[in-house]
Amino acid sequence: MAPSEAVAPAIEVRSPADGRLIATVPSLDATAVAALAARGREAQPAWAGLGFEGRAKVLSAMQRWLLENAERVIETIASETGKTYEDAQLLELGYTVSALSFWSRRAAGYLADRRSVVRAPLLAGRRVITRHSPRGLVGVIGPWNYPLLNSFGDAIPALMAGNSVLLKPSELTPLTSLLVAEALRECGLPEGVFAVATGAGETGAALIAVVDFVMFTGSTATGRRVAAAAAASLTPFALELGGKDALIVLEGAPLERAANVAAYYGMINAGQSCVSIERVYAQASIYDELLEKIVAKVTALRVGAPAGPASVEVGAITSAAQLELIEAHIADALAKGARVAVGGHRRPGEGRFFEPTVLVDVDHGMRCMMEETFGPTLPVMAVADADEAVALVNDSPLGLGAAVFAADSERGEAIARRLDVGAVCVNDAAVNYFVLQAPMGGHKQSGIGVRHGAEGIRKYCSSQTIVISPRLMLRREPQFYPYTRGSAKLVRRLLNTLYRR
Ligand code: NAD
Repeated sequence: MAPSEAVAPAIEVRSPADGRLIATVPSLDATAVAALAARGREAQPAWAGLGFEGRAKVLSAMQRWLLENAERVIETIASETGKTYEDAQLLELGYTVSALSFWSRRAAGYLADRRSVVRAPLLAGRRVITRHSPRGLVGVIGPWNYPLLNSFGDAIPALMAGNSVLLKPSELTPLTSLLVAEALRECGLPEGVFAVATGAGETGAALIAVVDFVMFTGSTATGRRVAAAAAASLTPFALELGGKDALIVLEGAPLERAANVAAYYGMINAGQSCVSIERVYAQASIYDELLEKIVAKVTALRVGAPAGPASVEVGAITSAAQLELIEAHIADALAKGARVAVGGHRRPGEGRFFEPTVLVDVDHGMRCMMEETFGPTLPVMAVADADEAVALVNDSPLGLGAAVFAADSERGEAIARRLDVGAVCVNDAAVNYFVLQAPMGGHKQSGIGVRHGAEGIRKYCSSQTIVISPRLMLRREPQFYPYTRGSAKLVRRLLNTLYRR
């Protein structure tokens, strides 16, 4: 069944910036998803057969296509998310072209056969080959906050590894993925190798049942459901989930840069980034100065419907449910004694917008410090010293990333090593996401598994070990049947000689 014939109800895609209906897409049921999966499986062996070079050719063509059609790509992303031109351009398009370039060049090296010779005394001389072969059909389930980066972005290494990919984008933002499918076809990707299954949670659940690996990016709550469903079929998976990334700023740190980093990475994509700064811990001695700088910078931000480059810094809140959650976190904080230094309200009128907000007098009894807010809000809390900051960062069920500013980089690194999170940026924030050779994944409830680096592509493969013993060997080795007292003694003597120290 072609996706267009699929079952009602269709999904309406509306602009978060003005509520306008942009498109309707089908909601695929389990039968339609299974049909796409079957086509993907059929197409996969020939795709794998093209080899790394053949596949890189198609993905390099896609890289060029994205840049040649940049305006169309940015416009599509912005229309369904309400994000700014700049956030769509740098974070979505920028990441994706760099990922296409990275994986096209690096996949072959990461997935090359590894050969070695065994040195363990009892097996000495055996040759070992470890190889990675594509799993077959990879299912990618994506969120709405980065419809290109967090959906197609995770499909790129899967494709370079020789898999077919079935992508289930968020029901709020399916149009970018449909554009990607069209572009890949134009770039020569064989029919069936990449397909988009539009729909909501049920479509995602149907996908888990028919793929060989699930790459999920989304909330921790949905991640649990995905893990439970994958457990039923023992389908391997990776989960990239929510974050509550903290920024620590200590005495001696460059405060002007730290404040710029807090404002930018706190408000980037209207705060709707898994790795955005969601809480700031500032040493008491520099708290006032840092806060003043942050408040000034956040106050200067323009919020509203993006209209091309340089129109606003903070765009729309893509999901209606998210906007309610942001308001709930602010209300909870205010009820418990926090104060708003700037912002604090939903913008009246058309579209979903929330004022860039700085909260003070916050503590860990408040939701805004303990749960992912995913909005343009920045609670700033004073701490006595680095030890208290470290303890508070680690006092969280989430552990995606963190950022540290200290008097010098060595001190920053020492603090980074004490944080229970998947990545720490020193003198910076969030940039690890663009460091494609380094694994990126969350600790605790922020995820299982990683993207990027060797593990980020090997997860899309089944590994196989081949051990080759010499052709000419004893016809009967001492440990073979029948068991005799002599052979048992011999084995004991060998073990003692080799290992008794
Ligand atoms: P979500 O969990 O609501 O939805 C994510 C995807 O899962 C959507 O496509 C949705 O349709 C699908 N889904 C829902 N129920 C499902 C089910 N039972 N089975 C299979 N699929 C199902 O997340 P969201 O609100 O779209 O995205 C925001 C969240 O994503 C935030 O928590 C954010 O931190 C997280 N995120 C994490 C990363 C990361 O790399 N760690 C990156 C981006 C976003």
